[in-house]
Amino acid sequence: MNVNQSAPPVPPFGQPQPIYPGYHQSNYGGQPGSTAPPTPYGAYNGPVPGFQQTPPQGVSRAPPSSGAPPASTAQAPCGQATYGQFGQGDIQNGPSSTVQMQRLPGSQPFGSPLAPVVRQSSVLQPYGPSPTSAEVTAQLAGMQISGAVAPAPPASGLGYGTPTSLASASGSFPNSGLYGSYPQGQAPPLSQAHGHPGVQPPQRSVPPQPSSFIPPASGGPRMPSVTGPLLPGQGFGGLPVSQPNHVSSPPPQALPPGTQMTGPPGPPPPMHSPQQPGYQLQQNGSFGPARGPQPSYGSPYPGAPTFGSQPGPPQPLPPKRLDPDAIPSPIQVIEDDRNNRGSEPFVTGVRGQVPPLVTTNFLVKDQGNASPRYIRCTSYNIPCTSDMAKQAQVPLAAVIKPLARLPPEEASPYVVDHGESGPLRCNRCKAYMCPFMQFIEGGRRFQCCFCSCINDVPPQYFQHLDHTGKRVDAYDRPELSLGSYEFLATVDYCKNNKFPSSPAFIFMIDVSYNAIRTGLVRLLCEELKSLLDFLPREGRAEESAIRVGFVTYNKVLHFYNVKSSLAQPQMMVVSDVADMFVPLLDGFLVNVNESRAVITSLLDQIPEMFADTRETETVFAPVIQAGMEALKAAECAGKLFLFHTSLPIAEAPGKLKNRDDRKLINTDKEKTLFQPQTGAYQTLAKECVAQGCCVDLFLFPNQYVDVATLSVVPQLTGGSIYKYACFQVENDQERFLSDLRRDVQKIVGFDAVMRVRTSTGIRAVDFFGAFYMSNTTDVELAGLDGDKTVTVEFKHDDRLNEESGALLQCALLYTSCAGQRRLRIHNLALNCCTQLADLYRNCETDTLINYMAKFAYRGVLNSPVKTVRDTLITQCAQILACYRKNCASPSSAGQLILPECMKLLPVYLNCVLKSDVLQPGAEVTTDDRAYVRQLVTSMDVAETNVFFYPRLLPLTKSPIESTTEPPAVRASEERLSNGDIYLLENGLNLFLWVGASVQQGVVQSLFNVSSFSQISSGLSVLPVLDNPLSTKVRGLIDSLRAQRSRYMKLIVVKQEDKLEMLFKHFLVEDKSLSGGASYVDFLCHMHKEIRQLLS
Ligand SMILES: [Zn+2]
Repeated sequence: MNVNQSAPPVPPFGQPQPIYPGYHQSNYGGQPGSTAPPTPYGAYNGPVPGFQQTPPQGVSRAPPSSGAPPASTAQAPCGQATYGQFGQGDIQNGPSSTVQMQRLPGSQPFGSPLAPVVRQSSVLQPYGPSPTSAEVTAQLAGMQISGAVAPAPPASGLGYGTPTSLASASGSFPNSGLYGSYPQGQAPPLSQAHGHPGVQPPQRSVPPQPSSFIPPASGGPRMPSVTGPLLPGQGFGGLPVSQPNHVSSPPPQALPPGTQMTGPPGPPPPMHSPQQPGYQLQQNGSFGPARGPQPSYGSPYPGAPTFGSQPGPPQPLPPKRLDPDAIPSPIQVIEDDRNNRGSEPFVTGVRGQVPPLVTTNFLVKDQGNASPRYIRCTSYNIPCTSDMAKQAQVPLAAVIKPLARLPPEEASPYVVDHGESGPLRCNRCKAYMCPFMQFIEGGRRFQCCFCSCINDVPPQYFQHLDHTGKRVDAYDRPELSLGSYEFLATVDYCKNNKFPSSPAFIFMIDVSYNAIRTGLVRLLCEELKSLLDFLPREGRAEESAIRVGFVTYNKVLHFYNVKSSLAQPQMMVVSDVADMFVPLLDGFLVNVNESRAVITSLLDQIPEMFADTRETETVFAPVIQAGMEALKAAECAGKLFLFHTSLPIAEAPGKLKNRDDRKLINTDKEKTLFQPQTGAYQTLAKECVAQGCCVDLFLFPNQYVDVATLSVVPQLTGGSIYKYACFQVENDQERFLSDLRRDVQKIVGFDAVMRVRTSTGIRAVDFFGAFYMSNTTDVELAGLDGDKTVTVEFKHDDRLNEESGALLQCALLYTSCAGQRRLRIHNLALNCCTQLADLYRNCETDTLINYMAKFAYRGVLNSPVKTVRDTLITQCAQILACYRKNCASPSSAGQLILPECMKLLPVYLNCVLKSDVLQPGAEVTTDDRAYVRQLVTSMDVAETNVFFYPRLLPLTKSPIESTTEPPAVRASEERLSNGDIYLLENGLNLFLWVGASVQQGVVQSLFNVSSFSQISSGLSVLPVLDNPLSTKVRGLIDSLRAQRSRYMKLIVVKQEDKLEMLFKHFLVEDKSLSGGASYVDFLCHMHKEIRQLLS
């Protein structure tokens, strides 16, 4: 087989659109451009479609304040509404800032260009086969792996921790003895179980294995790397007092201060063998670089050690510890990638290129492969054989976001119209025409790049070839030169061989007592009056083609006739919920503009009609059934927007009971908490998918509502779930309305089917996401929006060829918002390798973590959570051990050597392991866990990245006039200064943490109170004050929210306040209250696992 090896030159599809005979430019969502009329709603490719940013003419987008009733006061006790949003970046490549971050000496942990003098990493780091695959080596001095980090005395000017070796035998880390059901698994490497994962008393009695111990040159003392006085929050646990907040502090007596350097600042002596020659600093910036003095850190707490002197009591030889600054830093890796790859566009013409990280802001130029905004892979160079793949254990997966929104600078896919003949496809495998098809015999035939079948070129598609064998019109045709494009589908691609009618939205509103009492119904009805003007529309269409309908319900359903000819809406009640039918056809689904008066009247009346309701019971399945039947009757696809408050206990199909039981946590039955309690919803979902009925669910629970069951239909129909626990209008309306506006406006593809084809040798075998599958290949999506991803895992079924590489083609057949049937095609060519080192050089850790998290989160449905966790740990160890064995340069067994591309795998994996689904804290409800589990299933790589490793931004370290986002710091309490204020976000949650010693002027500027003690805890809105700091912080909060697909409600947390526990849960490098290991401990544990695999 001979596929196109070289990238096609730049095609002429640029901003100015040439005229291509045979197809026209996509107007799907509209290209931003001067010719496009301003659209009042977010364009498909446009900027964040927030209402606030693009107000419609003459219509106030402010939430109704007069109409909303006072919020009720009586509330059932509720957990903190921590999960209400989930982040999908409008910006998929990280922060919106296009300006490189400036780092200031005071706010950066290390590696500052401003403090370059003490970089010593080159002394200690081995390098890999090439700079791009340089290895990261951690030499870990014998440390306790039992969960406690030995104290780190500060020293000045030392940027590098003492090389150490890992004492591998000790450790009470949750063991991997139980092996899970992971495919390709090998025997579990560990068998010595050590107690419960949650509670691990330090086991210090197990001595380090002598064989694995590299004695540091200095005889054991480590060289600390922290400069400047320690901060109260810093997690050097050996400082027995003044750390009331440090939840991960081990018992003081277990933590003698470490040995310190008492000499003058200077580079550490070369403590390791010279077998580790110079290491590229740039590659290695995160690994043990120096950090400069931090003069701005004030207020060392009493007893804090100072440079060069050790106040600690004399102790026996302290356990050697791993310096937190000497282990790979996510912050540094992210920053390095921004600096190295953020300035140049990513051009997709070359096969197998690893794109910049999702946290880097970059532009993409499509030159034959799909943009990483559409497809990201765990590796861009895949092993030629399944044996190699099994050896490496690196999952081969692609995270695909077929309808991803693009930044305004990038063109959305062209729409190709081949007329009645439809898109050209391979006769055998049905792959669509793409740049990798090989034209032969003077252009009369083409050989399929996926299955090698020779196909005739239809006469109307014939074109001559140039001297290189390329069609002379290749660059005039998107399908011959671009990675992504669309075809107009013919009637053959339509259900029942009929072109679809335009889709419909049905709003289904719970009007039971709880919904009325909280003011939800009034708020929602008021909002819908204006929101209906912003239904998604295509391109420059003047109005949306989408029709709307309305249903209210409690134990019975009320349908409304809102036909334009009526003076008043008419209600029809269906009380036979067991046999749901739609009582009216004509007048139920209407055009908003035609029926505006009747709709407005209805929305005015609904809150009044049910104002005095005493009905507390609700049904749920019949509501979905009704919406689906209505769409079926109207012969269209569409979306149901369900606003629901309670466990559906009324007598009806899909009735549920409260089966929440926290006692099941950490038992073999824990999986039942994630499973639906009845199969009725799967059956219903299947019917919905067949109808193209997508369900978006907005939940407003005051108590357990069984999210695991209620989310089945949204999940299987490609819908979204939003949860607002203990909803109160005054506290939550902004969040709810922001989410609602975005959800209603976003572009959706309906009644979709996605198929991923691959070239010979690999095959898509597993799928993750919000969809339904009735066979093993077709991903069916009743609806698919630009936020949703489908993750696909590949396995070998034959040997791959280095020369031809491997090809993926994702084809999505869908109905557009205007009812047009289309095919969106994404192609991606990957390299294949016979050397494992090539695999490890071309991996993408963020994508690996996305896949591994989804795999684990699905695993909890069937396996005990501990098994799932152990499986992840084992797989990670196998991946790294394989690298160590086959790719790393020879070195001491005591070294932990990580592939450059995967040096963050341990820290990120640890974040997954200690996430609420896999290791819940006491405050996490069963519904929260089920909710997060569902959200993660559809997240893209940028979302999982920030979700598992939150961003922590210091606010007062950078100059007040700086307009860029402040540089992030590592998510650890050690990095918090009590004299500063920080924002923390993970796409779902947003905290503002205020240190207890923050300057009074700062407190005044931000909170308009005179002292720290006067700041009210749990505040969720910052006062609007006219000063630079207030403006800047509020602006930053807005900017963070704009980057995420769900509104993040702010929670102000004061240091040492009770809410701080909630905040600390997100300091993911620290040991967690629920038993999750600290990063340092986990790395040590991982090292031990790897050593066991290697021995
Ligand atoms: Zn084929």
